[in-house]
Amino acid sequence: MDHDDSHNHNYEHEGHDHDHHDASSPQVRVEALEELLVQKGLADRARIDATIGRYEHDIGPMIGAQLVAHAWTDPVLRQRLLTDADAVVAELDVRGAEIEHIEVKANEPGVHNVVVCTLCSCYPWALLGLPPNWYKSPEYRARAVREPRAVLAEMGLELDTDTEVRVWDSSSETRFLVLPERPAGTQGWSAAQLATLVGRDSMIGVALATSPQAD
Ligand code: FE
Repeated sequence: MDHDDSHNHNYEHEGHDHDHHDASSPQVRVEALEELLVQKGLADRARIDATIGRYEHDIGPMIGAQLVAHAWTDPVLRQRLLTDADAVVAELDVRGAEIEHIEVKANEPGVHNVVVCTLCSCYPWALLGLPPNWYKSPEYRARAVREPRAVLAEMGLELDTDTEVRVWDSSSETRFLVLPERPAGTQGWSAAQLATLVGRDSMIGVALATSPQAD
């Protein structure tokens, strides 16, 4: 028997969180891959951390929120965003991963849109930052399609029974962004003020934009 468990040792301490620690967990595998790349001198841990930090702090949902607020204040831009989001994104010089082709779906009275990736976890990183863990969970991916109304209710969004729910399944070809409805009571607000009401979850479609009265 070989008792050398030195390489498993790392996993046990780095594989924290709620996830399983078995070798099939994506987290464990990614950490093993990072470890290997660093050991082989193919990757620099500081650069990896810097990239993650960039997605956590600089490329976050505020980029998408600015786009939404812009659309709320500019009907022409809104229309273009709904028909050719790629052109708008290019024009605004939004850069980053996973926005090769974006489609924007607008909520309106009687219609609510929600985004999922049933196959994996496709997500418009450059507009929303890092995807939340629940978005990548097998449970959300399966149930968002099968019973979107129940999933939304569990996440705190109770929709009227006569509201149609449209579920958009992302892929490597197409990522979706939900354009939430502009909350009432925001007449005269600037785009910058409006952007503060637009959270990540409202652009995935599992929440609404925040009402100004709500806080
Ligand atoms: Fe995916």
